[in-house]
Amino acid sequence: MQYALINGVKSEAVAGADATCLDCGRKTVAKCGPIVMHHWAHAGRNCDSWWENETQWHRDWKNLFPPECREISHTAPSGEIHRADIKAPGGIYVEIQHSAMTQAERDSREQFYDNMIWIVDGTPFSSRFHLHHSLPDPSLDWAQDCAWFPARNPLQGAPFPEGMYQKRSLIAEDRARGAATGMHLMFFQRDEEQKFREAYTGHHQYLWKRPHSTWIEARKPVYLDFGSDILFRLETYPIGNLPSVRVITKRQLIHDLHEQNYAELVCLSPYDKN
Ligand SMILES: [Zn+2]
Repeated sequence: MQYALINGVKSEAVAGADATCLDCGRKTVAKCGPIVMHHWAHAGRNCDSWWENETQWHRDWKNLFPPECREISHTAPSGEIHRADIKAPGGIYVEIQHSAMTQAERDSREQFYDNMIWIVDGTPFSSRFHLHHSLPDPSLDWAQDCAWFPARNPLQGAPFPEGMYQKRSLIAEDRARGAATGMHLMFFQRDEEQKFREAYTGHHQYLWKRPHSTWIEARKPVYLDFGSDILFRLETYPIGNLPSVRVITKRQLIHDLHEQNYAELVCLSPYDKN
């Protein structure tokens, strides 16, 4: 844990200090070696069964928020108590997750915190995750006419990062003419680079080999962090229900978590040109 109480004051680890757990009052021991990240170790089992040992990545995320937002207890109506990594100033809980997690555990945390987002460490599976071509702003009329080949489509064989699509209107015309064929004109994104650049709002297809279904099936927003300035939010692209990600800058996520009150409103329009 980053914090414990020293004489009633929420404090970071101080070697040799007499300190107690913020939640249960049991003794905590400062670990301030030259190599370990300074932290408090809970005497016996941690009173929060969901607690996991922190990595530096974990700690770095917490430190992007003021101390009064870190390691905040939440009590459910049932009396159950857990400690959230971050409760952002607007009230949104942020769970920073490095380790894999079962669906059952993810479910119980989503129910418990409700107004929450996940930030997941993507580095353990970064070699299996590939960002593919962009998808145009789905609110545009012409974008709604595009039937994209899914990144996983076996027709494309090996991972094929370029966008390839058919036009729904042309398929409908073919059918109306009674052409009983599955063959339709194919279009390539690279042929209209400018048009797609202007319609870019951060949507992409992706290929995730051996994906973690826990995160794909999460009901709360999941932001994957691969260690750069941008994050990928798992989404479903509404045209054709394609698995997709939305590119979000870390900076905007932090900003919105300081301003917004509801998890669903965070980074709603990350590429708003206004
Ligand atoms: Zn405790």
